[in-house]
This record gives sequence, C-alpha cells and structure tokens, in this order.
Amino acid sequence: MGSLGLFSDLRASKAPILLQDSRAIRGGPTKKLFVFDLDGTLAESKSAVSGDVAGLLYDLLGVMKVAVISGGGWPQFERQLLENLPGDDRFENLFLLPTCGTQFFRFVGGWTRIYSEDLNDQERQLIVSSLHKALEQSGEAVAKIWGAAIEDRGSQITLSVLGQEAPLSEKEKWDPDFTKREKIAAILRPLLPAFAINMGGTTSIDVTKPGIDKAYGIGKLREHLGFSLSEMLFAGDAIFEGGNDYPVQEAGVDSIQVRDPRETAHVIQAVIACLGNGLIQMTSSKKVS
Ligand SMILES: [Mg+2]
Repeated sequence: MGSLGLFSDLRASKAPILLQDSRAIRGGPTKKLFVFDLDGTLAESKSAVSGDVAGLLYDLLGVMKVAVISGGGWPQFERQLLENLPGDDRFENLFLLPTCGTQFFRFVGGWTRIYSEDLNDQERQLIVSSLHKALEQSGEAVAKIWGAAIEDRGSQITLSVLGQEAPLSEKEKWDPDFTKREKIAAILRPLLPAFAINMGGTTSIDVTKPGIDKAYGIGKLREHLGFSLSEMLFAGDAIFEGGNDYPVQEAGVDSIQVRDPRETAHVIQAVIACLGNGLIQMTSSKKVS
C-alpha cells in the first residue's frame, strides 16, 4: 500500500494527527522514539496484540526506537506483547515500562530489568491491610471472586474486587458508575494519606506512591535514553481529561488519540511511510482533530 493510501486511511479514520511529508518545510524536530500505551492501544484490554499490530510493530522497530508504557505489570507485557512478537535483534530498539515506568526493561541479550522502584515491606503491609479493611467496612465485598483480589505489582498494589481473573462481562456490570469503588476509596484515603489512590479498569483500585502516572514514565525515558520530549511521539486511547494517557500530552509530548488497536495500526503504517519518505512533522502537541 502506498503512502497516499495510508493518508487516506488516516483521514477516513479521523485520527487526530497531521503528518507532513517534509521536515524542511517547517523545521520541526525529528521523531526518534515512538511511545505507546498498551491496553486499548496496541492490544484490546488484557488481550494479546493482533497479528497485524505485531507485524507493524516489528517493521517499526526496524526504523525507529519504540517504548511501551502501561499501568500493568511485567507479566502483562509478556503475555500481551512479547509472546506475540518475533524475538530477535530488533528488541534492542524496544523499551518497556510496566507500572507507569516505576520499572524499566530493555533487551540486552535477553529482557533485563534496569530498575524497579518497589514499595518497601512496611509500605506493602500497610497498603494490603488497609485495602482489606476498607473493602470490609464498605460492605462492597462480594461472595464469589475469580483469582486473587489483591495483586502486588512491586511498585503498585491493586485491589480487584471481583478478583484478577473475573470475566469481563461480570466486571463490566459491577460498578459502571464508580460508586462502589468511590465508597471503598473514601474509607481508604484516611488510612493511606501518604499514597495515591486511583480507580482504574472496571473493578480495581490502584495504590502507588504519589506522582506515578504515564508522565512519570516519560520522564524516565528522557533520563535513561536521552531523548527530548520533542523527539518523542505518543499514541494512546485515553488522551482526555481524567484519562490515564492524558498526563503524557500534558507533559508536552506530541500525542495521537486512537480509538482502538485497529486505528493504531493505521497510525503505525503512516509513520513508517513518512519515515521512509524522509520525515514526520507534527503541527502541535495538542490534537488537531
Ligand atoms: Mg489504554
């Protein structure tokens, strides 16, 4: 497919991005690092990446560096992403940041954890006991759960009220308007004043140290890879106020809102075509839909 076709696809999908064919025209920065959200962007929630996205990512890794930031833990990266990508030297261009960049993995002969900013034992015990207490006092505990309700991701502890393995259909109907989780969080806040408490997904409450969001991960990419914000490009499915990708755009990274992994595939195709033709130029860090 030629680049014109790709741009038509992009326009048809109303992806909020403008791609120009020449840096020389506007003198903008070259993009050197493409950063993606995982759930809802590269893959459907908690699912493996599709063959299309995996193939395009592999192509992209041949022409530029790529990072993936997610609130999820390392096992999610392995299951959703790595098990579905051909593993070879191109992995050296891939950087993975589970739990919003409180962990950092790169490929050095094998996947290697560069650091992990874990909570200490005392913090973990306090968080876990407070989660149990708040759930019990709220009266929102349920009789049947699927898998463990509390997951320790090292730098983040997550309460999934129906359990980690609950079917999506059950999870979706449990707390669609957040009232149950808000009730639990209201009890939790005074118990954990030194931590950030966020409601995520469909049934979960995440506890981290304060200030941990995807902008934190972007800061880690700058620090460890040496790229400036203007050299990065970000794609995510939640770049709106309150969305967990919003902090990246707010930090000043040129950002592309995508609807789903299918639209992400179109964006990757267009970026590869632009790189092949010489360059990409974004007009603004704000979306231009
Ligand atoms: Mg997402």
